[in-house]
Amino acid sequence: MELAFGPKDAAFRDEVRSFLDEKLTPELRAVGRRMTSVYADYDTTMAWHKELYAKGWVAPAWPVEYGGCDWSVIQHYIFSSELASAGAPPLSPMGLGMCGPVLIGYGTQEQKAYYLPRILNGEDFWCQGYSEPGSGSDLASLQMSAREDGDDFVCNGQKIWTTHANYANRIFNLVRTSKEDIPQRGITFILIDMDTPGLKVDPLVMLSGEHIQNQIFFTDVRVPKKNVVGKVGEGWTVAKYLMQFERGGHAYAPGLQVRLERIRRMASQETGDGGAKLIADASFARKLADAASEIMALEYTEHRIMSALSNGEAPGAESSLLKTRGTELSQRLTEIALEAVAYYAVPFQPHATAPGGPVPGAPEVSPNETPAGPDYSWPVTAKYLNDRAGSIYAGTNEIQRNIMAKAVLGL
Ligand SMILES: Cc1cc2nc3c(=O)[nH]c(=O)nc-3n(C[C@H](O)[C@H](O)[C@H](O)COP(=O)(O)OP(=O)(O)OC[C@H]3O[C@@H](n4cnc5c(N)ncnc54)[C@H](O)[C@@H]3O)c2cc1C
Repeated sequence: MELAFGPKDAAFRDEVRSFLDEKLTPELRAVGRRMTSVYADYDTTMAWHKELYAKGWVAPAWPVEYGGCDWSVIQHYIFSSELASAGAPPLSPMGLGMCGPVLIGYGTQEQKAYYLPRILNGEDFWCQGYSEPGSGSDLASLQMSAREDGDDFVCNGQKIWTTHANYANRIFNLVRTSKEDIPQRGITFILIDMDTPGLKVDPLVMLSGEHIQNQIFFTDVRVPKKNVVGKVGEGWTVAKYLMQFERGGHAYAPGLQVRLERIRRMASQETGDGGAKLIADASFARKLADAASEIMALEYTEHRIMSALSNGEAPGAESSLLKTRGTELSQRLTEIALEAVAYYAVPFQPHATAPGGPVPGAPEVSPNETPAGPDYSWPVTAKYLNDRAGSIYAGTNEIQRNIMAKAVLGL
């Protein structure tokens, strides 16, 4: 779909494009292309973070007074579309997209003054400590305890699936400060330094062989009371506020379109044995056409939501709709890509990709291994495996459907 941008928006798009031409180096673009996760590796993420920070574009959605950009909703959409189309590695969302907005909404002046600049300049790298074994979808049942002791809380318990805890120097946590009321009350939102004594991080290696998630054990971890965000016992309100940012605000369609075009190119390659190209196969072409029309429908929805937001309306169940459709279409593309690379999907070669962390077979582990097949085939299998998680994290798609059933259908 071609949006007819007005002259101001067209000029803005050109400004973004020339910035990307200059600063998004071939190395950064290659990482974007070879990503198997929704995240790039830490070093690339931070290299790109610093470029955007220098330009003043690292947290455009924040209010201007805290370092954000004075852009219209349409300009925000243009910016994220252009980044996706150019193959820029995404930034880690835990500080910029979650903890930062929460601090802006609920933090004290002291917390804002201390933490926000450190999120912007990349000095602090955050992770999210919500889920626990047994408390994922039913998050309000969480058990990690925080007992008052003088000026501190003493924290004990476990968090699980914590993305980037292996890199982060800080974690925002939901902890239980009281068991006396309904589970939603008695939860507190608290910030913890990852080097606090008593905190231990263990890796969780994914199906794709990557180390991106972790579990964290807290044993008598002392946290100053001044690290509570919002009021003690009112963390559930803060947590719900944060989830709007976690699930919404994404432009899925532009990235999906780029990936669809990549698959089209893969399927248009010569077979090498004189056989017909896959793109000529009617049933495969139909899968591409189906995916293309669904991505276009998602894009229209994104534009509709963008238009509502620019008229001052708040995002509601639309965040759940975008999360569900975006991740389902992403998973569909990983399946079509597997078909497109055919037997090159068989050699599992994470050493040739740009995953979330060193994996068995990575150059530092196996420097003499050379990848098999054309470079477009290298990340396909790991991406397929990694992407199974898309319908689970940030609230499972079943939970998103429950939200839509209630909010949209009134069930
Ligand atoms: C790759 C990855 C990264 C993650 N990163 C983080 C992170 O950084 N920080 C963090 O705190 N958490 C993180 N998570 C955890 C994630 O939020 C949880 O996995 C998710 O909320 C689901 O919880 P669960 O795993 O306990 O599954 P459960 O809640 O046990 O769900 C199991 C199944 O039952 C279904 N189900 C449960 N309740 C209902 C219901 N009421 N109606 C219909 N179906 C239901 C679910 O949809 C699911 O299919 C991550 C998870 C993954 C996979």
